[in-house]
Amino acid sequence: MMAIEKKMRKGNILKIIAFLGFILLLLFYSFFLLQSKFFLKADASESDDKVVEAPVNNEPIDAELEIDDKPIDTIEEDRSTDEKPTTIKEPTVEPTPDTKNPTIPEIDVEKEIDQEQEEPKETLAPPSRAVYLTFDDGPHKVSKDILALLDEYDAKATFFMLDNNIKNYPDAVKEMVSKGHSVGLHGVTHDKHKFYQSSKSVIGEMEQTQQTVQELTGIETDLIRTPFGSAPHMTDAYKDAVEASGYKMWDWNIDSRDWQFRDSRYVDSVIDQLNKLNRVNEPIVILLHERPETLEHLPKLLNYLKEQGYELKALESSMHPIQLF
Ligand SMILES: [Zn+2]
Repeated sequence: MMAIEKKMRKGNILKIIAFLGFILLLLFYSFFLLQSKFFLKADASESDDKVVEAPVNNEPIDAELEIDDKPIDTIEEDRSTDEKPTTIKEPTVEPTPDTKNPTIPEIDVEKEIDQEQEEPKETLAPPSRAVYLTFDDGPHKVSKDILALLDEYDAKATFFMLDNNIKNYPDAVKEMVSKGHSVGLHGVTHDKHKFYQSSKSVIGEMEQTQQTVQELTGIETDLIRTPFGSAPHMTDAYKDAVEASGYKMWDWNIDSRDWQFRDSRYVDSVIDQLNKLNRVNEPIVILLHERPETLEHLPKLLNYLKEQGYELKALESSMHPIQLF
């Protein structure tokens, strides 16, 4: 009986040992599984990180910001390693089956993306440049409305006017002067055959207009614009005569063609030319006309220029004039 009982006990002990061994095997197996799963996740987070870094390398400014940010994040995550900040080594150093750690880099990556998207917006301020609006052929019955609109936008402009029109709308000219706009001369006839006949005719028309402005406002302006612009009719001899008489002859570098379009297309044309204009050292001078259609769509142009951060100013005698040729 005792011998049977001993055998049975021995058998139970063997069974228990075998059971314990099985449990141990299970534990090892599960540990191995968790470990391999952990490494897979760690690899995935590293590859995610590389995907985020790739577009940053294309932009040197962002890349610098990225390098500045990175060490702070990695120090917070892993204080035990002195590895390079571009690779996250934490999971390999401490391979505990903690499922929270591998998700931390993913959250930080999202944060970094947010930072990259926000920071350039703050640093990119609109450029502050001057635009010189110039209105030809006036004054006109719409002059006062143009002046009121310019006031609304805190804008100054320059008016190149014809002698007869100055006589017809003297109050408009006075208002231009009192509001700080610049007044300029555009001649008498606006007829290219008469105006460009000789250097004498060119100077004569300008002197007559100047006298009218001076009598009306007390201002002796030296700003002139010849009819249809200086090219091709202004010869070198004419230009010399203009200079000898002390006039500053202004053309433009943006032609709105408002007289041709007679609708809002002139605004689109100006915006298009403005975006293509690459002559940084020159003042931006836009040719417009005192016309009802120009006034009608002028708010659209003024809105755009203000939104873009342009300052709308009047031409001054001290400036070096823009000329077509
Ligand atoms: Zn004209």
